[in-house]
Amino acid sequence: MNRNSGAILVLSGPSGAGKSSIINKIKDQIGPIYFSISTTTRGMREGEVDGVHYHFVSIDEFKKDIEQEMFLEYAVVHGNYYGTSLGPVKQALKEGKLVIFDIDVQGHDAVQNRLGDITTSVFITTPTLEELTKRLHNRSTDSEAVIAGRIEMAKREVQRISEYDFLVVNDNLDEAAEILVSIAKAARMKIPTLQINEFVQKWEEQS
Ligand code: 5GP
Repeated sequence: MNRNSGAILVLSGPSGAGKSSIINKIKDQIGPIYFSISTTTRGMREGEVDGVHYHFVSIDEFKKDIEQEMFLEYAVVHGNYYGTSLGPVKQALKEGKLVIFDIDVQGHDAVQNRLGDITTSVFITTPTLEELTKRLHNRSTDSEAVIAGRIEMAKREVQRISEYDFLVVNDNLDEAAEILVSIAKAARMKIPTLQINEFVQKWEEQS
């Protein structure tokens, strides 16, 4: 049974683990996708573009969206609000796309609760804490205090790896990308409970 009603792929893992690099590498190999653009109250980093990397908004605007129930999920990460708007996700699912989220462990929890039967989740990390620390320093986009915060959060997040379907250790970018291609293709084939029931009913019908 080949389904085309859309599915969700959640990617979580520490900043610096290479999620964006892996996604960029595979985005043309996994069929129609919609990469969810989150809304955030954090400041824009150098090189980031509003509406491409995030929708950058004020705290007041974010709170208004919360009140109007615009978010599928939202969370406070590193002291800033981050949220996934429901509208574009619903539309992409209707179009049969694989919707990809780069969200934290709290966001993953919320998506599992609301849309678990069409969700596949992957935790992406560096092989070691030491390697993560090195990468964050080499990236040098953040201050020491911010890097320390990211490392503390990474230590807490890895404690929750067991909540994910897959663990991808980004030791080698090409290998990690190849694994994620397989996972993304399989994610499309996950069958929602309702469709299983329909399939079994049809399968049993006498011709
Ligand atoms: P950064 O500030 O480095 O872009 O992202 C910080 C963290 O926020 C990352 O772990 C990222 O996965 C998470 N994040 C980004 N967008 C969302 C979102 O819409 N919801 C949640 N829950 N987390 C998000």
